[in-house]
Amino acid sequence: MSDKRKILVTSALPYANGPIHLGHLVEYIQTDIWVRFQKMRGHDCHYVCADDTHGTPIMLRAEKEGITPEALIARVHGEHYRDFQGFHVAFDNYYTTHSDETRYFAETIYQRLKDRGLIESRAIEQYYDPVKEMFLPDRFIKGECPKCHAKDQYGDSCEACGTTYTPTDLINPYSVVSGAAPVRRESVHYFFKLSDPVCQKYLREWTTGQLNETPPLQPEAANKMQEWLGLEGENKLSDWDISRDAPYFGFEIPDAPGKYFYVWLDAPIGYMGSFKNFTDRSGKDFDEYWSKDSQAELYHFIGKDILYFHALFWPAMLEHSDFRTPTKVFAHGFLTVNGEKMSKSRGTFITAESYLKQGLNPEWLRYYYACKLNGTMEDIDLSLEDFVARVNSDLVGKFVNIASRCAGFISKRFDGKLGSPDPLASEEFDSASASREIAQYYETRDYAKAVRKIMEIADKANVYVNNNKPWELAKLEDTQENQEKLHQVCTTALGLFRDLALYLKPILPKLGIQVEQFLNIPLVWDDVYKTLPEGHQINTYQHLMTRIESKQIEALVEANKTNMQATVEPEPHSEQRHAEHQQHTIQPIAETIGIDEFAKIDLRIARIVKAEHVEKADKLLKLTLDIGELEPRTVFAGIKSAYDPSQLEGKLTVMVANLEPRKMKFGLSEGMVLAASDERGGPCVLFPDEGAKPGMRVK
Ligand SMILES: [Zn+2]
Repeated sequence: MSDKRKILVTSALPYANGPIHLGHLVEYIQTDIWVRFQKMRGHDCHYVCADDTHGTPIMLRAEKEGITPEALIARVHGEHYRDFQGFHVAFDNYYTTHSDETRYFAETIYQRLKDRGLIESRAIEQYYDPVKEMFLPDRFIKGECPKCHAKDQYGDSCEACGTTYTPTDLINPYSVVSGAAPVRRESVHYFFKLSDPVCQKYLREWTTGQLNETPPLQPEAANKMQEWLGLEGENKLSDWDISRDAPYFGFEIPDAPGKYFYVWLDAPIGYMGSFKNFTDRSGKDFDEYWSKDSQAELYHFIGKDILYFHALFWPAMLEHSDFRTPTKVFAHGFLTVNGEKMSKSRGTFITAESYLKQGLNPEWLRYYYACKLNGTMEDIDLSLEDFVARVNSDLVGKFVNIASRCAGFISKRFDGKLGSPDPLASEEFDSASASREIAQYYETRDYAKAVRKIMEIADKANVYVNNNKPWELAKLEDTQENQEKLHQVCTTALGLFRDLALYLKPILPKLGIQVEQFLNIPLVWDDVYKTLPEGHQINTYQHLMTRIESKQIEALVEANKTNMQATVEPEPHSEQRHAEHQQHTIQPIAETIGIDEFAKIDLRIARIVKAEHVEKADKLLKLTLDIGELEPRTVFAGIKSAYDPSQLEGKLTVMVANLEPRKMKFGLSEGMVLAASDERGGPCVLFPDEGAKPGMRVK
């Protein structure tokens, strides 16, 4: 491809002292979708990230746990990486800022800024803990609010009345580390001279887009920058303090013993460190992406709270140390849950780990976030009720439903071979124009619009299936004409399903792979213009996605309420937690029985002839089962939460055939179908292997 782009993408580095939660995932999922889209389009796109590992909180946390900071960050790195993988976030490299590469670039950038006269040292006065013998960051000093006199407020702002101030304003301040009263002490600090006219001029030009082909910031971010920069000649920026005194966990400044780079200096440099580590391993060219004259594109996805660091300090540092600057910075809003801030007491401070442990499908969340993300800095809301409704209706009810209603006929009637699609439908759906439109939405990170368009197509595809009713065509007389019509309708529907799966693949990568296996073809973006070849062999349809049950969400919220108590104490080692979890998830095995007792249960293979909703029943589906008897049986099964009736029709399952009939509110139930479930999920109905026939006994 001649227009193949070289793209480097980053997400902000998560701090190595806490777990990944659903708020973090807004960013990683958003970035991952974009990267997967670019890769599917054939571009040379790389996605790197790392743990942000330095600073006082890491140092103190390690000390509290009685381990070295290195041991702490290694453990947290493992946990973060596991969680990202669990949500299918596919970095090309997930590294650490505590690395030789990051140290090298931090020192290089510092030295070059110094050579340009942009580093200055001067003595400043700060709070010092005389017992612990360390300078205290604002957040490590507490005291009485000078305004409302609330006790135990942090050194930068009061949580009771919202006033912001400096630690000097607090009444009776104390150190959170030792409890001692802090004293004022002078120390020499190093500053990056952001107030220098050279920096101010450069940032004014960069943030307003005068230096790039397209503006590097979203309009709302650019406005924020104008506020911070002030008007021409106003010089509102002050110098940035980039050093901290020992004891500190980080990189010591080369020519300044006992002084360390402030964690926020080396955090963004960690993008370079991670990419350098990647290029060294993969044989790619680092300079092609980072040299001053690089033609590659560089994008940073970040939360709006760290815009200051990425849109001011970072481009100014890069520009004046002879590296390239970002092509664009993409800032996004925060996550609210049910319209409110995430809250530990409400159980809505949900960790990635707990979500996965509850057995919830990560692609449900990826899809829901995609429905909400529109490329702006607006906050997005995870309404748990809407989450359940949306995923069930769109993914299970609309998308998966197309394949589940048509695939069976291809397997059973046509040896798994596709026919030729309906030419009228191909015209009506106009895949070429739909594909261009959807690609444009992905490119501009307006996933909400992409999803809306995709679901419009899914709706139309369902109308096509409903109008042509393959299940009725299948019952007509077995003439060649009827067969051909059935073949054509199912082939057309599966072609549309292929297109939809392809459009959704950046959002649902795992499902995409399952569809590739089912349809026996790779999902390649350009192929949307081509119909599936006639005679193409597909595989037997396997169930692709279950519905979310409300009770799964209730259990998730409950689990995160208990989490809060657990975090008061240092969390036990993750392996230990895992072992405890394993013990809880399987229910005790029932009392031993003899083979004779088991033989009393007559299990039979049954064909689900019909499956229907039962009016006013929340949990039940009405199944009509053929086990080879003269009349089919009726069974009411509590599986409504997991299955759409249309997915079940035509399938084989296992039923208890000699269970005493039970009179229920909705009618007589003449047996029971088998399904698995426990607190991790279900019900999952049992389907026998190929070759089973209705009426066969199961033993
Ligand atoms: Zn106050």
